[in-house]
Amino acid sequence: MRLLLVEDEKKVASFVARSLREHQYAVEVAETGERALEFACNNTYDLILLDVRLPGINGVDVCREIRRVGLETPVLMLTARSLVEHRVEGLDAGADDYLTKPFALAELHARVRALTRRGFRGGAKLHVADLELDRPKRTVRRSGDPIPLTSKEFALLELLMLRSPEATNRSEIIEHVWTHGFDIETNIVEVYINRLRRKVDQAYPVKLIHTVRGTGYQLAEPGAAS
Ligand code: CA
Repeated sequence: MRLLLVEDEKKVASFVARSLREHQYAVEVAETGERALEFACNNTYDLILLDVRLPGINGVDVCREIRRVGLETPVLMLTARSLVEHRVEGLDAGADDYLTKPFALAELHARVRALTRRGFRGGAKLHVADLELDRPKRTVRRSGDPIPLTSKEFALLELLMLRSPEATNRSEIIEHVWTHGFDIETNIVEVYINRLRRKVDQAYPVKLIHTVRGTGYQLAEPGAAS
């Protein structure tokens, strides 16, 4: 799951981003409405958390513009408690929900879960052979055995399962699992594929994760078309 957090207050942004990352989301932060539009139009997010009061283009106008260009990404507006008119304006501009500041992190996570669940393309549970990934619960099982994964490992496995039986190339993996500005010359993808292989494949006779030479990686039962 990849989220865009639009928030100009650095302390709030880093606090919220850290908490979301601890809950296994990939989070990018934009500090202005202009940057938010640039990010939203050039990347795919599962949810945009959008502060209303921003320097320059405000959150309501950012939301309106996102909808005007046809993006259907769910938007959660973050508004000040006193500004009822902002909430109404935000919903009118195409926001899906709002949260008033200051908010409890538990409430933020509940809203994020609810909004991203609606957007699960490909279903809430993914299956390849005896491997099952539950997206709302963020759990993975193989032959019924739970497999604990870190946030990045989970995001990588989720992507590979969504694409299965097609292969996924390295740059798509970097874009979905990591965030902007990551040095794609590093071997980070290989490192994480190896970790997934240890956790998902090593103990089982049938290997599901395959290297597709010159392309990337494929998660599929042996013999499935690529
Ligand atoms: Ca603000």
